[in-house]
Amino acid sequence: MDIKKIAPDLSVCPQLKPQDLAVAAALGFRAIIINRPDGEASDQPSHAEIEEAARSAGLAVRYVPVVSGKVTDADVIAFDQAMHDLPAPALAFCRTGTRSATLWALCQAGHLSTQAILKTTAEAGYDLTGLKPRLEARENTEINNVGHAASPAAPPVAAPVVTYEVLIVGGGAGGIAAAASILRRRPDADIAIIEPRQEHYYQPGWTLVGGGVFKREETERKMAGLIPKGVKWIKAACAAFEPERNQVALEDGERIGYKMLIAAPGLKLHWDGIEGLKQTLGRNGVTSNYLFDMAPYTWELVSSLRSGRALFSQPPMPIKCAGAPQKAMYLACDHWRRRGVLNEIDVSFHNAGGALFGVKEYIPALMEYVDRYGIDLCFNETLVAVDGDEKMATFKVTTGEGEPTIVTREFDMIHVCPPQTALDFVANSPLANEAGWVDVDGETLQHTQYGNVFGLGDGASTPNAKTAAAVRKQAPVVAHNVLCALDGKAPMAVYNGYGSCPLTVERGKIVLAEFAYGGKLDPSVPKWLLNGEKPTRLAWFLKEKMLPAIYFEMMLKGGETLAKPKVLSHRPLSHEAQSACDFKDRPTKAA
Ligand code: FAD
Repeated sequence: MDIKKIAPDLSVCPQLKPQDLAVAAALGFRAIIINRPDGEASDQPSHAEIEEAARSAGLAVRYVPVVSGKVTDADVIAFDQAMHDLPAPALAFCRTGTRSATLWALCQAGHLSTQAILKTTAEAGYDLTGLKPRLEARENTEINNVGHAASPAAPPVAAPVVTYEVLIVGGGAGGIAAAASILRRRPDADIAIIEPRQEHYYQPGWTLVGGGVFKREETERKMAGLIPKGVKWIKAACAAFEPERNQVALEDGERIGYKMLIAAPGLKLHWDGIEGLKQTLGRNGVTSNYLFDMAPYTWELVSSLRSGRALFSQPPMPIKCAGAPQKAMYLACDHWRRRGVLNEIDVSFHNAGGALFGVKEYIPALMEYVDRYGIDLCFNETLVAVDGDEKMATFKVTTGEGEPTIVTREFDMIHVCPPQTALDFVANSPLANEAGWVDVDGETLQHTQYGNVFGLGDGASTPNAKTAAAVRKQAPVVAHNVLCALDGKAPMAVYNGYGSCPLTVERGKIVLAEFAYGGKLDPSVPKWLLNGEKPTRLAWFLKEKMLPAIYFEMMLKGGETLAKPKVLSHRPLSHEAQSACDFKDRPTKAA
């Protein structure tokens, strides 16, 4: 627990876990203030879990949830009220402690000078200089008399402290690849990436971790080593997009300005979408390759199971790497077959969709393995609840006729692929389409309404397979088009919807699906060299030995072998393209 004392009656810290509450009580705290809203991250305990643990540790507790980057006056009043009501000293927390420190700072405006507030928070490790205009505004008005003369007026929106030519949100596959591709074209480009994580994950490797082929550590690198040289890394989480002002808000309220914005924040794994799952994940035979920490548990379960019932689930689309749920299953079955125990294990695949794979050409090869392993295929079955203690999984079965039915099945192990949605701060922003994704044109990857905004990767609205392979082709398109827009030209590079899914049907063989928009096959090499519709050793070699290097050494460094963007010589100037030519006067969504 990284606790920082900022006042005699208040300390702040990053996210607490239920087991930390007894320690907090032992340290002398008498109350807990929870400032992080539920559901911000997949690994976050709910406020109810924290409240329960706090009460059992004898601590008073108050839930004052605050949306990251949007600390309102009402939030400040609620926090001030909590400080009045609760016994001191209190410990407040959010994801990093910044929101709690911000709330304290805003409560103090008018009581302490702005300089003293900023010095105190800085000494505690929270740089709130971006809050200065708001603190000064509160200092000079009566608004600081919170709880007594509440003002419903929204605080003035801060101006950006710094503006970049190109600002990228997200330092995952898409964000870093786009930055590297821009630098290849224009080495002196002024670029910043907003990314809160210290680690970068090679997620495609997690299937092989769950299959006992890779060690988990092989899929993790330090973010610092991957952000391209010359690119400014802003180590913070973006909390809101403000495209009308060409700026984004960070969690502490600071604004960063841009000429061009690239949104690449990925998506949200919605673990809470399955009742009981979060409480049992990683125990009781419940696992998922969709988490760095959990993939080794998949292999632990697979390698120790000798008999019983193994379930594998797939939620409704869209999900990242649509083949990953069945890849985990084939590798498990292959291991059990080699061990001679497959006949003792009932294996079933529960797919919310109605087909084994979205592109029909690959289904025959996959069906051969389904038959070989004796897998029971259960379509139109959506996992809705998991009871780890009882080892029971509940599915909603939709046959198309009448009401869905509920079916409960026992398991010895279950591999769960979680439902996936857009991140909350994206879905709540002006950049989102109705489903919450960053609303971009499928070819140019330019935002449909804001000409100086582009998007790629899992968070984008494009209907391609959400894969790193897709990102490899999208990044050069975005790089080309962002520079066009910066130079006042129309974006001419186009993405064809390419995505790829290496289906690990057995250890040593892969069915390599490669396709573009509309499920059109789009192989990278001629069929005589590698026939993706058949299981091949060459495709396995590619996945195990070459793709990690292609990812780290080529894609994240701006290499574009087999990924050169198609650049049109003539393209009718669309509404969006026109707006990109003069992004300062671009039309807004509201217009
Ligand atoms: P990510 O790589 O997830 O990066 C998003 C980044 O944004 C993260 O670093 C995150 O910390 C950051 N971020 C989030 N919120 C914020 C915020 N508020 N502010 C700033 N930054 C933020 N792809 C393949 O091509 N082949 C495969 O075989 C394959 N297998 C897969 C197997 C599994 C189990 C999984 C989970 C994925 C697999 N993928 C595969 C998919 C691939 O990993 C993703 O499609 C790819 O990583 C998407 O890149 P991205 O940049 O959009 O998102």
